Amino acid sequence: MASRSRHLISAGEGLQRQLHLAILGLVVVVPYAAVGAAVWFLWNRWFSWGDLILLVATYIPIAAGVTVGLHRYFTHRSFETTRAVRLILAVLALLALEGTITQWVANHLWHHAHADTDDDLHSPIHGLWHAHVGWMFQNRQADPQAFGITRALLADRDIQRLDRRFGLIALISIAGVGPIGYLYGGWSGVASAILLGGVIRFFLVHHFTWSINSLCHAIGDRPYRSNDSSTDLWPLAWPTLGEAFHRTHHAFPWSARQGTAWWNDPSYAIIRLLAAGRLAWNIRLPTAAQYAAKREPGRQG
Ligand SMILES: [Zn+2]
Ligand SMILES: [Zn+2]
Repeated sequence: MASRSRHLISAGEGLQRQLHLAILGLVVVVPYAAVGAAVWFLWNRWFSWGDLILLVATYIPIAAGVTVGLHRYFTHRSFETTRAVRLILAVLALLALEGTITQWVANHLWHHAHADTDDDLHSPIHGLWHAHVGWMFQNRQADPQAFGITRALLADRDIQRLDRRFGLIALISIAGVGPIGYLYGGWSGVASAILLGGVIRFFLVHHFTWSINSLCHAIGDRPYRSNDSSTDLWPLAWPTLGEAFHRTHHAFPWSARQGTAWWNDPSYAIIRLLAAGRLAWNIRLPTAAQYAAKREPGRQG
């Protein structure tokens, strides 16, 4: 492995850095205020069923953009798919507002290469808050030039075209639900749809995915051998669409399945559905012998 300085880059300097911090501050802080506003709303008048359906109907595909798209497809290449599905996964991933596809993949590959060391961008050795969100305020990112997978993304015109439109897609992610709210609730529906189906959905997707970096490197079960602190934390299985089986993931990072079954790993269920429609193939899964070889002594398969 080459030196750290070659592969960690600055997140920007001067005005660019200030702008980055201001936007990040807004992205992290505004959703907390929105949760407060939602509680106030809830006390004064219930959200409509339309708002709740909108929340779930946007949460699942956008969270899957992160788990199936960014993580299992773009980073770990655990299955192959068509160009159309690849583009849909890319757009859904950008709607989650977790940065550009190329940078997300670089940071995550870096995490697997340096888990639990000082070089790990969200290392749990610096505390849970740092691992959860604090790391994003530091002026360092993994260099996309450091990995073959991200160099391929940099050369991919589809992906770079989408990454450059990150700001526009961010705006659609929040405001796009407003017109849907108008259809079922008029102008107050616009407000409650943006609050619940936009900002709070965005808050939930962020905190559940961030909890993989924090809680799933601190609390939980360790059924497989892996050279780091990662854990399987089953109560988070559904809201993280199966990604909370993070110990299993660190043991078998290339596997399309992280949970123990399709029902506790919704991301894997989505990949199986794609496969049933002939939209996913070459799905990589550990064999029984590979699971057995890494299982901790005394654990059942
Ligand atoms: Zn991890
Ligand atoms: Zn991973």
